[in-house]
Amino acid sequence: MIKMICCSSVCLFSFVSSVPPTIVKLKEPERRHDTCIEFTVRGSPHPTLRWFYKEKEISHTEYVRPDMDIYQDYVEGCLTFKNPTHHNNGNYTLEASNYLGVATNTVYGHFLDKPFDVTPTAETHKPEEDTFGVSIAVGLAGFACVMLVVLFLLINKYGRHSKFGLKGPVAVISGEEDSASPLHHVNHGIISPCTLDAGSDAVVIGMTRIPVIENPQYFRHGHNCNKPTTYVQHIKRRDIILKRELGEGAFGKVFLAECYNLSPTKDKMLVAVKTLKDPTLAARKDFQREAELLTNLQHEHIVKFYGVCVDGDPLIMVFEYMKHGDLNKFLRAHGPDAMILVDGQPLQTNGELGLSQMLHIASQIAAGMIYLASQHFVHRDLATRNCLVGNGLLVKIGDFGMSRDIYSTDYYRVGGHTMLPIRWMPPESIMYRKFTTESDVWSFGVILWEIFTYGKQPWFQLANNEVIECITQGRVLERPRLCPKEVYDIMLGCWQREPQQRLNIKDIQKMLFTLMKATPVYLDILG
Ligand code: AMP
Repeated sequence: MIKMICCSSVCLFSFVSSVPPTIVKLKEPERRHDTCIEFTVRGSPHPTLRWFYKEKEISHTEYVRPDMDIYQDYVEGCLTFKNPTHHNNGNYTLEASNYLGVATNTVYGHFLDKPFDVTPTAETHKPEEDTFGVSIAVGLAGFACVMLVVLFLLINKYGRHSKFGLKGPVAVISGEEDSASPLHHVNHGIISPCTLDAGSDAVVIGMTRIPVIENPQYFRHGHNCNKPTTYVQHIKRRDIILKRELGEGAFGKVFLAECYNLSPTKDKMLVAVKTLKDPTLAARKDFQREAELLTNLQHEHIVKFYGVCVDGDPLIMVFEYMKHGDLNKFLRAHGPDAMILVDGQPLQTNGELGLSQMLHIASQIAAGMIYLASQHFVHRDLATRNCLVGNGLLVKIGDFGMSRDIYSTDYYRVGGHTMLPIRWMPPESIMYRKFTTESDVWSFGVILWEIFTYGKQPWFQLANNEVIECITQGRVLERPRLCPKEVYDIMLGCWQREPQQRLNIKDIQKMLFTLMKATPVYLDILG
């Protein structure tokens, strides 16, 4: 065969012999990290390549497509996958053909494990072992089912304690009297028959045992560590005058109140008070721990805690009043669909938030998080519902473990009682209950997404078990319609699978500041 090779303006004619195709390389993707099957094929003329999966030819889509570079007598490249999951695992056959012949080769692509599959050895069984294996598996499964039912009944009978003695089933870690973890939430409306507690330090989702670890921050202060005891300010009951109800969490009702003698400069001031009725002894202890923790956390972007009122019932915590309530509600009220209703009739919109306001909100939460990280405090439940909005778009992180039931669908019940905000959690927190400053950064990425969708629920189109599958398989939320690429890049930086590869919260804040300075450039995007 004669081939023309051109270099600058000089062209040489060279003889390239005709060669049948050979597949010189077909590389298994590296588990978890690769999204590509690498190949090199020789042959002249250049072979035509076709890929097969489960005996069907792969048609090229956004999700699977070949990328290749063509050289003089070989072709190399990748069969590239977008966000592959365990559904993509399997044999991939490459067929290379030219008029001289056909070459095929097959490789096993293992991208991700099936979530919660603890029996990955099945593929390596010899066929004759299978019947025996299946019998044992069926026997064990039957035994496990009986045990599950017994445990489930026991937990239902003995396991349901009310954290604050307020209203029915409130989250506690299985086998423990009560818990102070911020991840334990009221379990209204979520029933998960395939989950149950697995001892005092674990829960089971499907086949996976997930350890339950108390938030250690709750034990850092007070009597059982080397730090000096925290003195929580006590406020007299007669100094608190309730005005109206603001909301309700599992902790109890939240009221707007006037508080006297709180500030040396003001006779009285507006505050938000959280009430806890008829507490059990354990709930009192939680309350005390919570108060100590809140006393120690002081920053301009953390809601101000003034003190407690414990003379009589209910127990009360006194916070600064944040006029616009929680950030999630605020975002929804300032989104494109929000209307002010007068006598049930839509009257006008509240005014949509613009990009610079969104960035301002996000940078304030980042500031609060930088402070928390400096205190080595891992929040574990960062979400817009746990931030508060005050005058002049002042935003603060405002909830440190007091559960809510108005947002109960944001939580996933994994044990009889444990509720997890899975939609805000990274894979390592879902799978191993590993909570770190880096897992808080992941949640910050989700907060950014919430801000740019005006308060939508992350993965709103999916059920909880599907969300778990998506996150553990490496899928991430899509770019919101109104979100500039630069902001989505920050989200993606928060959602790196490896915690060490995630952006650092200080860098995130710098990036947000830079974007805020350049905001006019982006205004038309939001237009
Ligand atoms: P929580 O018990 O923290 O879940 O609060 C329940 C609701 O009370 C929230 O959704 C807020 O709307 C409101 N709330 C809580 N704390 C404050 C506060 N400091 N200022 C104003 N509203 C608050």
